[in-house]
Amino acid sequence: MIVRCEMCFTDIGTCDPATLRTPLTGAMFGPLRAGYFPPFPVDASWEGLLCPICGKRAVGHDPDRPETFRTDRILTPEGYFVVEGAGKRGRTDGLTDGKSGAKGGVHG
Ligand SMILES: [Zn+2]
Repeated sequence: MIVRCEMCFTDIGTCDPATLRTPLTGAMFGPLRAGYFPPFPVDASWEGLLCPICGKRAVGHDPDRPETFRTDRILTPEGYFVVEGAGKRGRTDGLTDGKSGAKGGVHG
């Protein structure tokens, strides 16, 4: 699954949704494609998940509630993906299952 920076909307890396757990760390993210560097240091904590393109934190922003953080959510080209392990079941926000053929628009 592609991971997209929430600030500059650049595709910066990949992850396996099945292995994502909160708290997110850099080790959970891989390079965008072969030959690329992973987007985050492997020992980065959630606060250290800084976008290699714009330098801002690439995850955890909530456009609807800027005063809060979302430590359990990442942005993908298909929409937000909510990670399991934050005290509630994993679910998707505006993320289609990809099999229906109905491609939703990207947030923002
Ligand atoms: Zn960015």
